[in-house]
Amino acid sequence: MPCTTTDPELWHSRSSRDRALAVALCRECPLRQECAQYALDRPELRGVWGATTAADRRGFATGRPHRLDEQRRLRPACGLVSAYYTHFAYREQPCGECAAAWADHLLAERRARLESEHARGGSALGYGLHRRIGEPACADCLAAVRARNAASRQRRARRGLQRPRTASPASGSTAVLPGAQAGARGFAAAS
Ligand code: SF4
Ligand SMILES: [Zn+2]
Ligand SMILES: [Zn+2]
Repeated sequence: MPCTTTDPELWHSRSSRDRALAVALCRECPLRQECAQYALDRPELRGVWGATTAADRRGFATGRPHRLDEQRRLRPACGLVSAYYTHFAYREQPCGECAAAWADHLLAERRARLESEHARGGSALGYGLHRRIGEPACADCLAAVRARNAASRQRRARRGLQRPRTASPASGSTAVLPGAQAGARGFAAAS
């Protein structure tokens, strides 16, 4: 085992370079999987065990099974959200099982957020969540989004009335006074 034939301090060093070397040496060890599982079962352990650092193991601390992949990297068994993230960490496309686990997780998260929006009487955010879930919005969320859109139209209309509309003095055309009532007649611009 490399940790018994090389300087054992590498496995407990504070230096990230030493830890990376220990991880690389562990990868060649026939006891790697058992060693990593031993440390995963004992969160109090520090240092490198079975090619995992303490930080790696905190990321894997899901209480779920792990496996060594074809490249002998430790990873959570597929079909879990943590396994979905591991695909990305290892620069792979998620497998179908992990993608389905992620979709279930996302749906559950959106439903939980929607429930809290409904507890507040529905909202525009709830409307968006209904849409993302792929279902028609409830009456409360629909009313909330309509009220928001109406308020936003009113704000835009007010801003439009406040903005002065000017014409070139040279053109001799008429200009409308800021704040003039709709339909009021303009006055001839001073020449
Ligand atoms: S896998 Fe475990 S036993 Fe093997 S070198 Fe690494 S720390 Fe030592
Ligand atoms: Zn997977
Ligand atoms: Zn709703």
